[in-house]
Amino acid sequence: MKIAQSEKMFEQAAKVIPGGVNSPVRACRSVGCTPLFIERAEGATLYDVDGNSYVDFVCSWGPMILGHSHPQVVAAIRAAAGGGTSFGAPTPAEITLAEMVVEAVPSVEKVRFVNSGTEATMSAIRLARGVTGRKKVVKFDGCYHGHADSFLIKAGSGLLTLGIPGSPGVPEDIVKNTISLPYNDVNAVTQALDDEGHDVACVIIEPVAGNMGCVLPAPGFLAELRRLTAERGVLLIFDEVITGFRLAYGGAQELFGISPDLTCLGKIIGGGLPVGAYGGKAEIMDSIAPDGPVYQAGTLSGNPLAMAAGIATLRQLQQPGFYQELNDRATRCAERLREVAKRCGLPVQINGIGSMMTLFFCSDPVTDFTSAMRADTGLYAKHYRNMLSQGIYLAPSQFEVAFISAAHTPHDLEKLEKMTEWSFKNLADK
Ligand SMILES: *Cc1c(COP(=O)(O)O)cnc(C)c1O
Repeated sequence: MKIAQSEKMFEQAAKVIPGGVNSPVRACRSVGCTPLFIERAEGATLYDVDGNSYVDFVCSWGPMILGHSHPQVVAAIRAAAGGGTSFGAPTPAEITLAEMVVEAVPSVEKVRFVNSGTEATMSAIRLARGVTGRKKVVKFDGCYHGHADSFLIKAGSGLLTLGIPGSPGVPEDIVKNTISLPYNDVNAVTQALDDEGHDVACVIIEPVAGNMGCVLPAPGFLAELRRLTAERGVLLIFDEVITGFRLAYGGAQELFGISPDLTCLGKIIGGGLPVGAYGGKAEIMDSIAPDGPVYQAGTLSGNPLAMAAGIATLRQLQQPGFYQELNDRATRCAERLREVAKRCGLPVQINGIGSMMTLFFCSDPVTDFTSAMRADTGLYAKHYRNMLSQGIYLAPSQFEVAFISAAHTPHDLEKLEKMTEWSFKNLADK
């Protein structure tokens, strides 16, 4: 595999962009690789600037559930662009997408569009603080809710990958208002809410964690969170930036039958364009300006191109059987990978639900941040490089999710299974 062009571009980029990238994990440091510069992508295939092609299991970190350059999505963006790219005034498309979100996501009665998942979570906790008049936020170790100050405490994603527990630049005054607890630990939540409940505005959680690798909520955990928060007037926020429109059309809350007070969305609802959203009960959402006093705004919010891409994407997801088929294919693939691991005698845990999956190199089940940290990141790095050399593009970190999209063909998944077996054998030999 020749990557001379990517190497050259990475050097060039590093002169004008910090680390050569616009988001840290993309630099591929934890797997010891040069990032590939992508020229284009179609379906489940990425093409880099050196002319190599890869089956893509990153899917832009989640948004591309239909695969790349989906004809209907591209057509919708083209049509919207022809009519002007931003007006800073209401457009019909915003109503359409808002109605679709409200109809899809069980707990959402009103929704506000923003430009990223980070903006969605940041605005949601401001709203929670505004309506409760309380300061503290409870989150969970290894969850990632974007890069707003309040969340950069024992956070997942790039912070975990790069071993950054917190971040300089986040004032102590902010850190002290964030309580981070072990995922799946009901006792820790009960204790924290008993001690500080009167001061806690909200509990925010990824209902299925995707940013310390895929970690599932233990049976009953989300229901307990719902009960404990409701009892104490604490708002429950589901960060469904990954799981929304991913695990089911109505997200994790539909799948698990839990009704949070607020929901954060992003990734899939933008169809690959920059969008985020937060929504919930009307009585809470009505506290946002101009109806209420909690301020939040955006020059490009509800951008017509992004709305068009979101609407076109959601229309595809509404096709009967879409999730059943995608989830079945992904679950069978995860099952076959478990068999591969067994045959090769490698200590591997495969966590998965629907079309999300993470292969952890460790021998005990991964149920939270502590157990995820036991994974052998060195072995993952070798596996990553093995797979890349065979044309399989995985996330360049042990602590991320592999996404299956509707564009992955049976042949793509077979290739993943075959190459995984080859890589595992290679790793077992060493
Ligand atoms: C990606 C992600 C975010 C942040 O979204 P951005 O669009 O990257 O700002 C927030 N929460 C979760 C769960 C995410 O996976």
